[in-house]
Amino acid sequence: MQSLNNKMKRYIQGWIIAFSYLASLTALPPLLADPESPLAGMERYKNLTKIQIKGNIICLHEAMNKEFGMNIPTDHDHVYGFKTEEGTFYLFLKNNLSAAVFDDERVRDRELILSAWLFPKSNIIDIVSMKSVKDGVLHDLYYYCVICAIRSAVPGPCMCCQDDVEFVEKPLD
Ligand SMILES: [Zn+2]
Ligand SMILES: [Zn+2]
Repeated sequence: MQSLNNKMKRYIQGWIIAFSYLASLTALPPLLADPESPLAGMERYKNLTKIQIKGNIICLHEAMNKEFGMNIPTDHDHVYGFKTEEGTFYLFLKNNLSAAVFDDERVRDRELILSAWLFPKSNIIDIVSMKSVKDGVLHDLYYYCVICAIRSAVPGPCMCCQDDVEFVEKPLD
């Protein structure tokens, strides 16, 4: 009877772990409804699926060469894409958020969690929000001008004073 109780206990503990894991997943959705995104709630995307994916930025040329032996020119132009932890590839288009990926190596080096609209019949996405994962903690990524106190999604000179902006990676609580 004792061992049956222990079995039962382990079974229940297993479910508690599973449920708390699920609860932690459901804690993620605020990312999906990023109010800062100009695309949030956009009417023309209302029939599209919004996905949340975790992984890294890769060059699709190099990834196809490495994984499938595709012949690529050594002097190719990088085509940035996203590879999830599970190994699925996505192609993202340039928008005001993803521009940072093209312009800033630091963003490309990070492990990222993207929420994005997935276009039908494709693995093409439109990024809605981009967070980094550093030491297991979710971080906000943005650029900041200390002089004007202006926050921006893209690197480069400040839109106001034209001074250099600071790259900020701030833990989310
Ligand atoms: Zn490349
Ligand atoms: Zn400024």
